Amino acid sequence: MAYETLELLINGKFRQGSDGKTEPVLNPATEDVLGQLPHASPADLDEALAASEAGFQIWKGMTALARQAIMEKAARILEDRTDAIAETLSLEMGKPVGEAKMEMGFTIDVLRWYGEEGKRAYGRLVPSRIPGMRCMVTSEPVGPVAAFVAWNFPGVNVMRKVGGALGAGCSIIIKASEETPGTAVAIARAFQDAGLPDGVLNLVFGVPSDVSEHLLASPIPKKLSFTGSVPVGKHLQKLAADTLKRCTMELGGHSPVLIFEDADIEKTAQAAAGGKFRNAGQVCVSPTRFYVQKNKIDQFADAFVAAAKNVKVGNGMEDGVAMGPLVGERRLAVMQDFVDDAVKHGAELMTGGARRGNQGWFYEPTVLKNVPDDAMIMNEEPFGPIAPIAAFSDLDDALAKANKLDFGLAAYAFTHDPKRIAALEAGIDAGLVGINSFMISTPETPFGGVNESGYGSEGGIEGLDAYLRTKFVTETV
Ligand code: NAD
Repeated sequence: MAYETLELLINGKFRQGSDGKTEPVLNPATEDVLGQLPHASPADLDEALAASEAGFQIWKGMTALARQAIMEKAARILEDRTDAIAETLSLEMGKPVGEAKMEMGFTIDVLRWYGEEGKRAYGRLVPSRIPGMRCMVTSEPVGPVAAFVAWNFPGVNVMRKVGGALGAGCSIIIKASEETPGTAVAIARAFQDAGLPDGVLNLVFGVPSDVSEHLLASPIPKKLSFTGSVPVGKHLQKLAADTLKRCTMELGGHSPVLIFEDADIEKTAQAAAGGKFRNAGQVCVSPTRFYVQKNKIDQFADAFVAAAKNVKVGNGMEDGVAMGPLVGERRLAVMQDFVDDAVKHGAELMTGGARRGNQGWFYEPTVLKNVPDDAMIMNEEPFGPIAPIAAFSDLDDALAKANKLDFGLAAYAFTHDPKRIAALEAGIDAGLVGINSFMISTPETPFGGVNESGYGSEGGIEGLDAYLRTKFVTETV
């Protein structure tokens, strides 16, 4: 099992930080040290800023076809290296290696999609009201980008930013997560090996607040893109305000799942448990609040518990493991607080509810029934393998419960009644809605939230558009 060599990428060179600072990267399944991660010094960050400015001039001057050719080459290199990168990803993040391979497949898909879509950054001609004048609307890359991403999808989170920026003709400085840096380094190597001009992609690490304050204070980046928690998103948006950078905010959610009495209860419970325990619940669109029509709650909860008990928990590098550890030790205490608080509020703990073992940060797949509305877990994003189940009475009650929080990322509903489906599609206050399915994310469709879950989309034509700005030109010859 080989773990990636950890380096920064600044102006086309892979290297250590200039002041020699590092931090250990830990395997969450074993607590072993995987490697030492270099931190970028303030001087290194300044170098990355200058490189991104110079790299932007080179990259935007190339044709979209030439850019796509390099992106396609990087995609093929990543395909060849998928097995090795998936090992790094699983070792540092904890997810099962099979899931890590699937994540890399999706990551490559995202890269290809943005490379192709970059060829379609069309403008338009507006009929002129003045004879002899041409009125042209053009799309151009917004400029160098500063991006910060979380650890839960070490490949996809990085590529959603890098692919979008590069597809549009922007350069980018990305600070991937210090907890899962190896996958980001491996992705950066693929781009450099594919012939990406120096400075177009820069990868840095450090103390997150220091790096973001430094990069966002600079006028060089013209755009901020962030994936992570709501409080950090709000903080970064404030930092970006001084230089009026455009922002894309992919923040947390607390996705309701509405299960109506006409749904196939057993099948839905199976699918819901699959969605809930994927990546140990550390997914921003993870189904997290299960509301079941009153007369079916026991049947749903029993089926959910049976599925939860079947989830094989363990080291993601071992065969047959379906759920790995939490990413960090701090998350164990957070999980325990959620469970203890729910039980204190009167919820019934049906299975799980404790750390598993004493090596590695494993938490049991947990199911809570009849969880009251005021329990912390019904209001704050759990980001872990805990499924709270509660009852609703009718459509209005279900919609009120689904829409009661400030989040608005994903929501799901299970029913076959066409009128009800129409009411749910119109009435749910979220950026992503899955009716009878948990599948709401593909490279070619927009992904993003509303309200305090953020704004702006990644993926789809909207995802490319996020890295483009509009110019209007009149031309009289
Ligand atoms: P956190 O908010 O401390 O960190 C989330 C990510 O943001 C990390 O990768 C971190 O490096 C980065 N970050 C933190 N402060 C930063 C700063 N000042 N500047 C730049 N980057 C910064 O939370 P955590 O304990 O790591 O994760 C748990 C919470 O994060 C969850 O409750 C969940 O809401 C959220 N989260 C959301 C997503 C998502 O996809 N929306 C992904 C991962 C985590």
